Amino acid sequence: MSEAVAETGAAVHPPAPEADADSAFYWEGLRSHRFLLQECTECGRRRFPPMPSCPYCSSAGSRVIESSGRGTIYSWITVHRAFNPVFASDVPYTVLTVDLAEGARMAVRLAGDASDIKAGREVELVFVDHPDWTEARFRLA
Ligand SMILES: [Zn+2]
Repeated sequence: MSEAVAETGAAVHPPAPEADADSAFYWEGLRSHRFLLQECTECGRRRFPPMPSCPYCSSAGSRVIESSGRGTIYSWITVHRAFNPVFASDVPYTVLTVDLAEGARMAVRLAGDASDIKAGREVELVFVDHPDWTEARFRLA
């Protein structure tokens, strides 16, 4: 991964996400290289992003499961203009919508080359460690 460098020459890293009560397990899991999802204890569906209740049946009950880190591409966009200077050295980069093998759908950044990208293509999880947090990305499988 390339590193953004500020005008001062110091390395600039992507800002760490702000974990809340609902997402703390997710960010802590990534930091220890585990990809965790919520599963509804009422209807059994898996969801992403972490949230306090099920978007399908409204139940507040959930348990945490470990994802296989596999999925397929539903769609994607390529970002050509950095919305934050921290990402200026990364453009262009691609953001995928991935249907996870466990059933949830997530927006996530592509790791690696996007030239062979297409809908339905299998992808797999990679962990990208930043100084203060770990990011999930997916690469073509
Ligand atoms: Zn549910």
